[in-house]
Amino acid sequence: MISLTDVTKTHPGGVTALDGVSLDIAHGELVGIVGPSGSGKSTMLNILGTLDRPTSGSVLIDGYDIGALSDAKVSALRATRIGFVFQHFHLASGTSALDNVADGLLYTGLPAGERRRRAALMLNRVGLGHRVRHHPHELSGGERQRVAIARAVVGEPALLLADEPTGALDSHSGGEVMRLLRELHAAGTTVVIITHDWEIADSLPRQVRMRDGRTVSD
Ligand code: ADP
Ligand code: MG
Repeated sequence: MISLTDVTKTHPGGVTALDGVSLDIAHGELVGIVGPSGSGKSTMLNILGTLDRPTSGSVLIDGYDIGALSDAKVSALRATRIGFVFQHFHLASGTSALDNVADGLLYTGLPAGERRRRAALMLNRVGLGHRVRHHPHELSGGERQRVAIARAVVGEPALLLADEPTGALDSHSGGEVMRLLRELHAAGTTVVIITHDWEIADSLPRQVRMRDGRTVSD
């Protein structure tokens, strides 16, 4: 699913956030990327998610060599194959849960009615069938994150990337979000979870530990 070879990322200003990382993740894995703040986890997620390109090294996602593709091709690959979940949800305010999730299908060209129909099914699946008309500010943190997950997976991406998905949640809501991510993994999605929470990391079948831009154990 993912193959990074000797990936380096130097940010403008000269910080080397990734320093020669090689990593392979197979289809259907559930992997935690763990490490202290500043160790390069978010930079890694941006590279895995094709949101950013490495300074050097190669990135293969679902068989595609990202370095060899145009920005337009990379955007298309990202839209169809990768879902994202962030610590602070990144939902559109002033927009219902239903339309937030339906927006996850904009790239498909499906008519609005069909996008909403699929969004409603996905909200049911994450246990929010009774909240479709609510706006983000009318939802709890845990509910917002479940809306964000519904949006990320409504297009059935092969790869789901989550950056500190429980970082802004209380432990009960965090537990529900983790349960949902495990369900998606069980249904066949490749899931990568970035966390600095060792308890969550320890509960995952594979952990990649990072420090100072390098993988220190796997
Ligand atoms: P983590 O997610 O593990 O906290 P990051 O990947 O966000 O780590 O950051 C790794 C290092 O790269 C840090 O030193 C951070 O300050 C730096 N960094 C991250 N993003 C940028 C950026 N856009 N520009 C400059 N430096 C950055
Ligand atoms: Mg981070």
